[in-house]
Amino acid sequence: PHVADLIAAGEVVERPASVVKELVENAIDAGATAVTVEIQHGGMTLIRVTDNGCGIAAEEAETAFLRHATSKIRSEYDLEAIGTLGFRGEALAAIAAVSRVDLLTRTADESVGVSVELEGGVVVSREEAGCPQGTTMVVRDLFYNTPARLKFMKKDSAEGAAVFAAVQRQALSHPEVSIRFLRDGRQELLTPGDGQLKSAVYAVLGREMALGLRSVTGSGEEMTVNGFTSLPTCCRGTRGYQHFFVNGRYVKSRTMMAALEEAYANQKMVGKFPGCVLHLTTKLNAVDVNVHPTKQEVKFGSERKVFDAVYYAVRAALEQDQT
Ligand code: ADP
Ligand code: MG
Repeated sequence: PHVADLIAAGEVVERPASVVKELVENAIDAGATAVTVEIQHGGMTLIRVTDNGCGIAAEEAETAFLRHATSKIRSEYDLEAIGTLGFRGEALAAIAAVSRVDLLTRTADESVGVSVELEGGVVVSREEAGCPQGTTMVVRDLFYNTPARLKFMKKDSAEGAAVFAAVQRQALSHPEVSIRFLRDGRQELLTPGDGQLKSAVYAVLGREMALGLRSVTGSGEEMTVNGFTSLPTCCRGTRGYQHFFVNGRYVKSRTMMAALEEAYANQKMVGKFPGCVLHLTTKLNAVDVNVHPTKQEVKFGSERKVFDAVYYAVRAALEQDQT
């Protein structure tokens, strides 16, 4: 593979979960209404993402794997709008550089699809292939050609758990898409894709926790907050059920977490933490949201405004329940 692709791979492709995140984002960008993610051995031996989106035109099936190949930026204006998202057109090149990829795809205009195989970013075969409209990406033997990276991988179970978490986040930020996840042949998640956040939350958090959820809606200065939070009686001894999103992107935010937990401060929950799915929506520039493309920690221009918006929205949701 090209050195530049390997460098990009180092930043974009940390582990199976990052591959899955990029492939599912591509599927959703392609307008898919149903996406299936399958992994084996924590995603180390196999990741397969199948979508019913627009497909890739036969003449673009190979170029899509070139660095900076993107069909999504058409003007300077677009470049500005995506701002800090970065890595435009780098994901497929980076993934292909460090794995064996099979692509199977067909657009609505074509009667027959195309199948392309790459090894370490190099195309090794290409042929016509019958397939439904949409795209299947299979990524095998991740990091097979970069042994140094391979050493950093955790046990399959830990990598698989990280993949599952990544899929859950996609499901919670895209309730309009039906998302299915299979680990070693067993289905672990299926969201209905009916566009209701609540349906996705039910599927992700599970029935037991979902039954103790209160709906959250609120607004602060230049922002709105909505989603669900758990009743004090349904809190758990882990923060693993806290999911925060800003403008549709999963984030980690100490401020949002602190605001959530402060709202429960008078609830006497020693060693227990609320679960939540909270979406913060702001005008892109209003609070100066800054998310590293892969690191997920978010910084706000005004942490105070965000704290207040989340705190009061969650407080209101909890108080509503008591009446
Ligand atoms: P980006 O998503 O930033 O454009 P990628 O490297 O992730 O860059 O993908 C490169 C291009 O390949 C995309 O712009 C798109 O045209 C095409 N592509 C990738 N995945 C899919 C998919 N699942 N369905 C349709 N097109 C896809
Ligand atoms: Mg992409």
